[in-house]
Amino acid sequence: MISRSFKSLMVAALTVAAACLPVCAAYPDLTVTVHKGGFATVNSYIISNGKTLTVIDVQRKGYEAQKLADLVRSMGLPLTQVFITHGHTDHFTGMHVFRDLFPKARILVADEAIRRDVKEYAIYMDQGGATEAETPLERPLRPKSASFPEGFDYENSIGLLKGPVLNFDGGGACDVMSTYPATEAPHMSTLYCKSINALFLADLGYNKVHPWMGDDITIERVVAWKKELVRLRREYGQLNPTIYPGHGDPGTIAMVDELISYFDNYLRIVANAENRTDAMMQITRLYPDYKEADFFLKYSLINHIGE
Ligand SMILES: [Zn+2]
Repeated sequence: MISRSFKSLMVAALTVAAACLPVCAAYPDLTVTVHKGGFATVNSYIISNGKTLTVIDVQRKGYEAQKLADLVRSMGLPLTQVFITHGHTDHFTGMHVFRDLFPKARILVADEAIRRDVKEYAIYMDQGGATEAETPLERPLRPKSASFPEGFDYENSIGLLKGPVLNFDGGGACDVMSTYPATEAPHMSTLYCKSINALFLADLGYNKVHPWMGDDITIERVVAWKKELVRLRREYGQLNPTIYPGHGDPGTIAMVDELISYFDNYLRIVANAENRTDAMMQITRLYPDYKEADFFLKYSLINHIGE
């Protein structure tokens, strides 16, 4: 005879299982911890499956990565992997900190193109990409070479995914998409975690932060970026996922709509403004609460409007 308490326990268990079919059986629940960086409002995310941890992006400064590492340690589970979404320093600088503090954790990117972007951007930042806002590359990330043997070994320290899936040690997985055209970065990877209906947009997503359009980001790339957002909106809008952007607070699909409309305004203003100051005034008037006007927006306008 089945005891009453056991019976009610069974009912409870079946209710939970029914609530999350068909995905929960295959994927244990994942939890996402948000780490908001103090520099450039860049996010890192810690995904836990209850057994191991995976970190998505590792900050722009060694000391910011250290804070992220402290948070990882405080969670009391082994960190087994670090996933870098794209080749910009605000997402990969902390790699040397994580390599030293978590030597068993693998560092991964979606594909060869992104690994190449990471190394090339590191070299660019080391050899002239620095500005008053974008500080030079941290020394431990200088590429390893005959004359700098203690440098970072990009080819051997960064592994590639074997397919478009990021698997978590101990169970669970997220789909990885990395077939985007050149947008905010030459190559970008995003994640969709079906079991928790979470879409990690990396730097295709900014939430109340002026999107970075400096350096090599041409107007054509801004247009392509907007187009990808429209496509993502169409693809994921119905699911109403939680959106985890590269910069700014997590939120809903509404942030994608707002960013699409931001680009429409930006493109119009840049095409018609008298000069950079005029464009800066028009854009900050439309988006007074957006962060990084003196950094991201300033260098985007330097890039798109001649003196
Ligand atoms: Zn970024």
